[in-house]
Amino acid sequence: MQILDGKLVSAAVKAQLADKVTELKALGEKVPHLAAILVGNNPASETYVASKVKSCAEIGFHSTLLRFDAKISEKHLLDNITLLNENADIDGILVQLPLPKHINEELVINTIDPSKDVDGFHPMNVGKMVAGLPTYIPATPYGIMLMLEHYNIPTKGKHAVVIGRSHIVGTPMSILLSRNTNPGNCTVTLTHSQTANLKELCLQADIIVAAIGRPNFVTADMVKEGAVVIDVGINRIEDATKKSGFRLVGDVDYNAVAPKTSFITPVPGGVGPMTIAALLKNTYHASLGQKVNMN
Ligand code: NDP
Repeated sequence: MQILDGKLVSAAVKAQLADKVTELKALGEKVPHLAAILVGNNPASETYVASKVKSCAEIGFHSTLLRFDAKISEKHLLDNITLLNENADIDGILVQLPLPKHINEELVINTIDPSKDVDGFHPMNVGKMVAGLPTYIPATPYGIMLMLEHYNIPTKGKHAVVIGRSHIVGTPMSILLSRNTNPGNCTVTLTHSQTANLKELCLQADIIVAAIGRPNFVTADMVKEGAVVIDVGINRIEDATKKSGFRLVGDVDYNAVAPKTSFITPVPGGVGPMTIAALLKNTYHASLGQKVNMN
């Protein structure tokens, strides 16, 4: 069993991007600039946005964090996105989800200029991804593809079972893995809460991507010997031994599953850091006016 070390791979991606920033500066060009919007103070969202902003600083990107009270009106939020769209210095815009219930997330995403939509959630970018055209790939699946590529994990002809069909993880993951690319060329089964025979499907999987949001959902009896297991889940569970009172676990019962696998991602330190690395890559491409082409 080998651990897929997201911290290590993301550090390598960040080092490449830091070199690009040095090159841009030497040429007197502007450095990439990411604008992040955080509404309210959901603790998990606070942590995610803070690490995105910190990562920008580490590699020499500019970042701007716009924080709004949870009671912000939808119109005020949309107006601020429009200002960022019109600001030529801003290359990438991300709105940390989830948003408070009174704000229509779809409308917010649709308001972001697709050319600055570095999360890849705008329908125009989703459409391009589905059509195999250059676009911004949603950061989590893109980060997983970068990780598979880094470790040279064989994917061609493999059966991948993706658990979870969200727009931000499961669905784009299933599309990327099924493409005629490397990594890719998998036969993909996309599963969800209505899937009748999940355990049987998982037992056939060479690759499992778990994106459910339930602690320790994937148990050892669902995993075949030698499978590759990618754990996307980030779940807080109570832990009185921690100062914070909680610890993070994935969607996979790591201790029981890991010995059966050929490769597995830990939580934390697996997919999470890769998501940030992918977001930074998208922001770099946005600053050059290019889109990522996974084909
Ligand atoms: P969603 O809640 O949007 O989607 C969860 C999916 O899991 C749904 O498709 C749901 O099915 C499916 N599901 C729920 N219960 C079952 C079940 N019993 N059997 C099979 N499928 C089930 O979650 P996200 O995709 O946004 O996130 C998933 C996890 O990944 C979360 O823990 C989240 O925190 C984490 N995450 C981590 C990131 C990272 O950087 N590491 C980034 C983004 C998310 P249905 O559609 O039928 O309801």
